[in-house]
Amino acid sequence: MPTMMRVGFVGLGTMGAAMAANVARGGFSVSAWNRTTGRAPELAALGVTRQLSPAAVATASDVVVTIVSDTPDVEAVLFGPDGVAEGAAPGALVVDMSTISPSATRDFAARLAGRGVAMLDAPVSGGSEGAQKGTLSIFVGGAATDLERARPVLEAMGRTITHVGPIGAGQAVKAVNQVILAGTYLGVAEGIVLALKAGLDVEQIVGALAGGAAQSWVLANRSGRMLSNDYPLGFKVALHRKDLGIALAMARELGAELPVTELATILEDELIAAGHPDDDMSALARAIRARSGLPG
Ligand code: NAP
Repeated sequence: MPTMMRVGFVGLGTMGAAMAANVARGGFSVSAWNRTTGRAPELAALGVTRQLSPAAVATASDVVVTIVSDTPDVEAVLFGPDGVAEGAAPGALVVDMSTISPSATRDFAARLAGRGVAMLDAPVSGGSEGAQKGTLSIFVGGAATDLERARPVLEAMGRTITHVGPIGAGQAVKAVNQVILAGTYLGVAEGIVLALKAGLDVEQIVGALAGGAAQSWVLANRSGRMLSNDYPLGFKVALHRKDLGIALAMARELGAELPVTELATILEDELIAAGHPDDDMSALARAIRARSGLPG
């Protein structure tokens, strides 16, 4: 591997643009492609060069990071026309950091392996703030030797890097994370709505509960939004809904039943249909409020 590792980015959305910036600041040689041209112009000042296709990014890189929306999108940038697979030399490493299906991830890795290209799945938690600050939590699936190759790049983007198992395991952990979030947000939303209906002082209650077993990051950081019924962006309802679809497909494959997650998908579908796909997911409280006769 050259002294200055060449890192390619495919996808410069909210997450990818911030992550590419941190990798460039970390001293790597970075080139990138984004479907819509003109995204993330600020990267030019950090020395990030643009390529004309995912294949061109792969040809110019030792490690290719893909960070796009959903499973079909990763498939498109890897295996579509001018995709990463067309440009990657044998020995290259693809690190998919999108949140997608674990089983599709295993399929993509097998197809890349047929061309001598290695793959890690490395989905992230920590939101756009974590991406900007370089403090993401990264769940990595794949071979330990491939993780060691990618580790310096991942360290430029995240604070906690955990090798959780073979290929696909990172996505499985991310699905677990999203399922736990569904229950936590719903529980806090129901508690806040019940407190409002009872005429209690919600801010006082949040403080009182903070020391007990009901404490959580969501209670501490998102109950205020549920109280004011205003949901500025942290993590989009639409993205969480996508992730619950992945988790439920995984549950079906494994024979697990997730009733709280099922309920969260119903409520999130309602929010999306009502024009709130880009609200923060604490907007689950909007659905509980509406059912309870409070302003929705
Ligand atoms: P985003 O801002 O909506 O950006 C999506 C990116 O994917 C854009 O660069 C988009 O290109 C590209 N893309 C989508 N479909 C594509 C396709 N078929 N072909 C080529 N490019 C395509 O999303 P984001 O917030 O960066 O999220 C990216 C991934 O990270 C998702 O899997 C998400 O679940 C995950 N994630 C997000 C967060 C968060 O807080 N936002 C946190 C953890 C994980 P265009 O510019 O052309 O649309």
